[in-house]
Amino acid sequence: MATCEHVRSLPAQDPAPNTPDGCEECLALGARWVHLRLCLGCGHVGCCDSSPNKHASAHFEKEGHPVARSFEPGEDWRWCFVDELIV
Ligand SMILES: [Zn+2]
Ligand SMILES: [Zn+2]
Ligand SMILES: [Zn+2]
Repeated sequence: MATCEHVRSLPAQDPAPNTPDGCEECLALGARWVHLRLCLGCGHVGCCDSSPNKHASAHFEKEGHPVARSFEPGEDWRWCFVDELIV
């Protein structure tokens, strides 16, 4: 079974969201999103792959921060972009 080593290198506390009101890039563009993801490497808030602009994945490709958390109310699952696993 696949496991993720990246979660071990995460800080004990999740970083504060840089843009608590929504996807950082979509807010700048005036674009819309479906769901939000919080990057646990830096606090970047990006939109999910169901959103037209997929900024959470774009952020991973640019910065290489491997793990993002759901930023939706009541959801606390985490996703590793490298291993493509819920972690
Ligand atoms: Zn991983
Ligand atoms: Zn976005
Ligand atoms: Zn990041």
